[in-house]
Amino acid sequence: MRILLIEDEKRLSETIKKGLAESGFAVDQAFDGEEGLYLGQSETYDVIILDLMLPKLDGITVCKKLRDKKIAVPILMLTAKAQVENRVTGLDAGADDYLTKPFEFVELKARINALLRRNYRQTESAIVIDTLEIDPVKRIVTRGDKPITLTPKEFSILEYLARNQDKPVTRTQITEHTWDYNFDSFSNVVDVFIATLRKKIDGGHKNKLIHTVHGVGYVMSAKK
Ligand code: CA
Repeated sequence: MRILLIEDEKRLSETIKKGLAESGFAVDQAFDGEEGLYLGQSETYDVIILDLMLPKLDGITVCKKLRDKKIAVPILMLTAKAQVENRVTGLDAGADDYLTKPFEFVELKARINALLRRNYRQTESAIVIDTLEIDPVKRIVTRGDKPITLTPKEFSILEYLARNQDKPVTRTQITEHTWDYNFDSFSNVVDVFIATLRKKIDGGHKNKLIHTVHGVGYVMSAKK
């Protein structure tokens, strides 16, 4: 899953990015409102984390402009404690949720997961496909109660496929949702990751969950 982080406090931005990257998220950073608005309009994101007080354009304006452009990506607004009225304005401007600074990282991850779940119309916090269970907050994957160890990138690709259960996705969609801005989209790196995931997820299991869709890409499904 790919996140746009619009936050002008460099140290906070780096801390959030590091934590999210360790959890398998691809993160693009913007350090002012204009840059954030530009990236939010031109790239594909699963969640936008948007600070309220920003140079050049404030968070409320960025949020409004994105919604005016019909960009429906879930937006999590970051506010300082004293900005209660702004929080309400943020929700009015089209933000989906807000988090008050300072916050625990685990709280941020839980909010992000709630927004992803809502966006992909999932009701449970864990994603279950056949005997495979994915916990997106704790980043734990098990198949038939046996834990599976994945790298952050492998986890990210698996999560994207699983959130789109039974829906074929293209290689481009996979890269757009799991790699950041600096990714070279001409490589066949997706296929390499899928081959590894197949070994880890489907190896030794009769019911395969990762399938190739010829001419399209891949689909994750319990149906054969
Ligand atoms: Ca700020």
